[in-house]
Amino acid sequence: MEMSPKVKRKPLCCPKCGSRNLARYLFGLPDGSEKLERDVAFGKIVLGGCVIEPDVSPKYCCNDCGESFGIYMSSRSKRTG
Ligand SMILES: [Zn+2]
Repeated sequence: MEMSPKVKRKPLCCPKCGSRNLARYLFGLPDGSEKLERDVAFGKIVLGGCVIEPDVSPKYCCNDCGESFGIYMSSRSKRTG
C-alpha cells in the first residue's frame, strides 16, 4: 500500500462553510504600508485591532461567511497549574 506524500501544511478551510477564501487576523498597530493595504483589500489580512487576547482572539476569518475561527496563541504562553 502506497502512502501519499507528506503534506507539510493542512489545507485550511472554514469550519462553517468549507471555504478556503480566508483572511488572517493581524493584531497590533498596522504599519500603513502599501503591501499591507493591498493584503487587506485582497482579503488576505483582517485587522483585528491593537489588543491581542491570547487564547481568545481568533486567528482566521472566512471571507465568504464571515466566520472567525482558530485561536490566536500567545507566543510566550505559560502553562500554569
Ligand atoms: Zn465560511
